[in-house]
Amino acid sequence: MSSSTQPKKRQFQSIKGVRDILPSETALWNHIENTAHEVFATFCFREIRLPVMENIELFARSVGEESDIVTKEMFSFEEYGWTPLDTFRRNIISSNPIDYRKVSLTIAVDSVKSHTDRFLTALNEAVELGEIQKTPEVIAALQGIPKQRDELLQALQCGPNEWSDSDLGVPWNEIRRLARDTRLGEQLCLRPEATASVVRAYIEHGMHTLPGNVKLYCMGPMFRRERPQKGRYRQFYQIDAEVLGPSDAPGIDAELIEMLMVYFERVQLQGATLYINSIGDKNCRPAYVERLRGELQNVRDKLGPDSQRRIETNPLRVLDSKVEGEQAIIEKLPRIAEHLCSDCRAHYEEVKRQLGLRGIAFQENWRLVRGLDYYMRTTFEITAPGLGSQNAVCGGGRYDGLVEMLGGPAATKGIGFAIGTDRLVLSLQEAGADLSVRQSGLDVYIAWFGAAAQTMAIGLARRLRDAGFVVELPAAEMKFGKALGFADRLKARHAVILGEDEVAAGVVTVKRLADAKQQKLTEPELNAYLRSQ
Ligand code: AMP
Repeated sequence: MSSSTQPKKRQFQSIKGVRDILPSETALWNHIENTAHEVFATFCFREIRLPVMENIELFARSVGEESDIVTKEMFSFEEYGWTPLDTFRRNIISSNPIDYRKVSLTIAVDSVKSHTDRFLTALNEAVELGEIQKTPEVIAALQGIPKQRDELLQALQCGPNEWSDSDLGVPWNEIRRLARDTRLGEQLCLRPEATASVVRAYIEHGMHTLPGNVKLYCMGPMFRRERPQKGRYRQFYQIDAEVLGPSDAPGIDAELIEMLMVYFERVQLQGATLYINSIGDKNCRPAYVERLRGELQNVRDKLGPDSQRRIETNPLRVLDSKVEGEQAIIEKLPRIAEHLCSDCRAHYEEVKRQLGLRGIAFQENWRLVRGLDYYMRTTFEITAPGLGSQNAVCGGGRYDGLVEMLGGPAATKGIGFAIGTDRLVLSLQEAGADLSVRQSGLDVYIAWFGAAAQTMAIGLARRLRDAGFVVELPAAEMKFGKALGFADRLKARHAVILGEDEVAAGVVTVKRLADAKQQKLTEPELNAYLRSQ
């Protein structure tokens, strides 16, 4: 086949909402992550590395069944090995045997029978072999599918005109639903956030028995099926810190925020603004939420569809609304600060006092409620310039009931934050940070000519690299001009030339590419010279 007639090969691109972080950016990413390791360690935080996959139930229970994350943004899947059951289930879900009635009644009947028989036989077998669990959904399928099938077969056999396609569709759709609900394995998901995983690990590894509060941090990718835009991705990265243990002293909140601000200062984030709020606890929040719901009912007609829905599901989230026309209405709503119980008020006042002790500037924002269900008392957020509408670089808050909710000891308290690494990088880049130059620093390009020089070049490259220099060693011999041209294009600072003359004299020729200054040096002299540059 000539090249012109060959089929065009598909070129792949990264999928929607995810992206590659290229070498020109990774120096900044590494700097940001390394600084977090350094700063957090000085506050006695210890790193924990967590899996990116978890049981979906973990997030449904913690983040909240009604939250956007759980209802629409989760990347979830069933975990099971290959099984014919899966194929038979797919066949049922994707087929419509009733259509065959137009061609032949026998084909339609056979198709209903074969699809359901194969699926039911495989399902029974899998249950007997213990390959899948006899869950309520499996029992419903084992009982319901034969019943629906018999009804459908009876109806089909009544003759072509007795039943309409839509009547026949009812039992078939029920069969499909029963098949679809049959779970073949565990429901897993890619983690949408880290707090629930940290808490899961804390409980699983009995960390509540450790003395005092446990300070943990982690970093890595999170996954949410969001509408991609600047600063909003489907795979994004977070740097996450959590404090778990028996104490909920306000000093913990203040120190955690202090660590965050020290960190932002260290990475030289300019113009970061800290907002704080208290959203009460289970003693005072429910009454406030009811009051809010009542007020929102009064203005329901003036709100958009999202806020209207949230009046029922989660009225606090209405305060998060960015819809222009709702702002004036929201400003008049009752504020939680005026409804805090005395314990929550005292806690909040002390957090603010302790932030003051640490010289940390903040602004109070009564509308800062945070999207996730588990937050209580202190909430906080940090915004940074250069990010457009997605200007939050970090969000956090206290979640004292979460450990208990996930099966851990009741008395355990918790607080944490998540920095959006992608947005931190964006903000630093907008402010002119560029570490790519530091990363691309090629110190030495070794241009060698002849077999003897190659042997010497290999040894020299190893020793220079051991000494910490960045060295490029061509794998194959090149002509002199081409080798030096290459060194230029790679932006090497020096070319080290090794030819017959150099080998014979036991020296190297080093050329500084910026000004073409050239000299002959022994290896120790070369080392000292490179170090002085
Ligand atoms: P959250 O876990 O929603 O409290 O978010 C904490 C921080 O993570 C936010 O302040 C953002 O900086 C960042 N973040 C959340 N969702 C995304 C996303 N889809 N893309 C990029 N960053 C995000």
